[in-house]
Amino acid sequence: MGAPGAGKGTQARFVSGLLGIPHLASGDLLREHRRRGTPLGRIARAYMDRGDLVPDDLVVQMVIERLGRSDAAGGALLDGFPRTLAQARALDAELAAHGGGVRVALLLDVPTDALVSRLAGRRVCIGCQGTFHIALQALPTDGTCPRCGDMLMQRPDDAEAVVTHRVQVYLTETAPVVDHYRAQERLRSIDGVRPIDAIEADVRAILTRQPPQRDGLPIPDRAPAPDSPALPTLAGRR
Ligand code: AMP
Repeated sequence: MGAPGAGKGTQARFVSGLLGIPHLASGDLLREHRRRGTPLGRIARAYMDRGDLVPDDLVVQMVIERLGRSDAAGGALLDGFPRTLAQARALDAELAAHGGGVRVALLLDVPTDALVSRLAGRRVCIGCQGTFHIALQALPTDGTCPRCGDMLMQRPDDAEAVVTHRVQVYLTETAPVVDHYRAQERLRSIDGVRPIDAIEADVRAILTRQPPQRDGLPIPDRAPAPDSPALPTLAGRR
């Protein structure tokens, strides 16, 4: 979790590699629907271009459908979802119905005033979808992706006016989701205003720490049912 520009995508890719689970970013899934011109993509376009949230029922259905695919049977890293209390409750209910749950909610904490300048410098690769920052990373001068060589571009919704609105939407709609996971004692907050490798070190430490055996943060409400796919264990991965 984190405000737009907090660095969720970068850390999500790191976590996905660390735990060997797929990185499911609701924004990427929606952009893919737009590229393919699906009915969902056509509906989502106007919301996204304004910096508004796509309606809960559509996003929940899309993410639950994606979580049901075989590569997510051992767990997944969700990025940008849930973004409203209604989404969080729908996710909790769906996971509980399969004997699972949210293991841990990682919050990248970045002060609001730092976000707009961060997003203005963000570039996204049209090939590998990697995100980079012109001020924080040394990037090729010809505008190509340092990872795959395809072209880097600026997302239209990273324009300053849209970003300001997205941050406002985050504060009103998504901040309550942070409180939701804090109340469940699943929230881990990380100072996001530091170099990427320092943040990664914190993320690694949190995710590889031996989880407490009871009443602890990373333990789901119910143990997985014997016949349901186990969530990836975070224990013993030092
Ligand atoms: P992101 O790439 O996560 O910044 O998302 C880009 C845009 O997609 C957002 O500004 C929203 O319009 C939409 N979006 C992504 N995730 C969600 C979500 N969980 N709920 C509603 N809208 C979303």
